Amino acid sequence: MTQNEKSIPVIIVGGGQAGLSMSWYLCREKVEHIVFEAKTACHSWDDERWDNFCLVTPNWQCELPGHPYKGNDPHGFMVKQEIIDYVKGFVDSFTPPLREHTAVTSITRHQSGGYRVVAGQEVWHAQHVVIASGAYQDAVIPGYASAIDPAIYQVHSQDYRNAAELPEGAVLVVGSGQSGAQIVEDLFLEKRKLHLCVGSAPRVSRFYRGRDVVDWLADMHFYDLTVDNHPLRDGARDKTNHYVTGRNGGHDLDLRLFAQKGVGLHGSLENIRDEVAHFAPDLKDNLDDADKTNADIKKSIDAYIAREDQCSDRSTLRAGMGTQ
Ligand SMILES: Cc1cc2nc3c(=O)[nH]c(=O)nc-3n(C[C@H](O)[C@H](O)[C@H](O)COP(=O)(O)OP(=O)(O)OC[C@H]3O[C@@H](n4cnc5c(N)ncnc54)[C@H](O)[C@@H]3O)c2cc1C
Repeated sequence: MTQNEKSIPVIIVGGGQAGLSMSWYLCREKVEHIVFEAKTACHSWDDERWDNFCLVTPNWQCELPGHPYKGNDPHGFMVKQEIIDYVKGFVDSFTPPLREHTAVTSITRHQSGGYRVVAGQEVWHAQHVVIASGAYQDAVIPGYASAIDPAIYQVHSQDYRNAAELPEGAVLVVGSGQSGAQIVEDLFLEKRKLHLCVGSAPRVSRFYRGRDVVDWLADMHFYDLTVDNHPLRDGARDKTNHYVTGRNGGHDLDLRLFAQKGVGLHGSLENIRDEVAHFAPDLKDNLDDADKTNADIKKSIDAYIAREDQCSDRSTLRAGMGTQ
């Protein structure tokens, strides 16, 4: 160990939910550690979501360790400030050894085993390092963005806040994943003239057969599937999430319905040259694929219900025959 180098068994890089959850378990097991957070514990929810943002996942699913959702709307969807309060409440519940505004800039092997970690102005020696730096840290800005006339206002979804911040005139939303589809609705409700480049994101219905689809998928143990057991294996990490919303109690985001109400739908944006946007001829395929995924999810729920019904018929029969 060199002079001024501090030593600790575990360093956690990132103080979002994942890093803080890890810290909760280490606190419980009394393992000494420190969490370095480049910004603040809630910053991704606080600084990178639009004003009308709300969760797509139902409140009951918010189960940080030792800190389950305790509100009176388990099947509702927290809005931005409620999510921030919930995460802050988690931090307050166990006061983790959290160092905010301290970015980890280097991790290398330490000559005496473990890792040499540079955090802010300090050098640390840790036996174990947990990387919990998140999956959405770097905004993906396509190359053609730089070819767009600087007079045209551009904003990435993580910096979008509300319709009023955009200059007057029509808006082109590029991308129809969860963010794109929800931002289209946000702008649509503010009566903006809109165009949407539809990509290959799948969609899912909010409710099916009287329940939230997330409730069905939870019963089907879909969320217990690990990457190793997922049919796509590592590809599961890059899979685009299905578009749907929790806004105002939750509903579908059906892009064809937006088109009927005046939103211009286009295929994926290929490039912008000489102020002309060029779209791939994939709009119909992308919409059809999204609908097919939605229909397939419903079929898998139907099959699950049929299996469960058969099982309960069998056990009722066994009970009736006294052979349970
Ligand atoms: C638009 C959008 C909508 C979403 N909606 C939902 C939803 O409805 N339901 C749901 O369950 N999930 C949703 N998610 C996903 C959810 O935000 C993430 O799954 C969750 O934030 C992951 O937590 P995390 O701790 O892994 O990462 P993050 O919350 O991103 O935290 C990572 C932290 O690491 C810090 N960090 C990064 N690099 C360093 C470094 N070098 N040194 C120190 N600190 C560092 C960052 O500052 C950050 O605070 C959404 C995500 C987005 C982008």
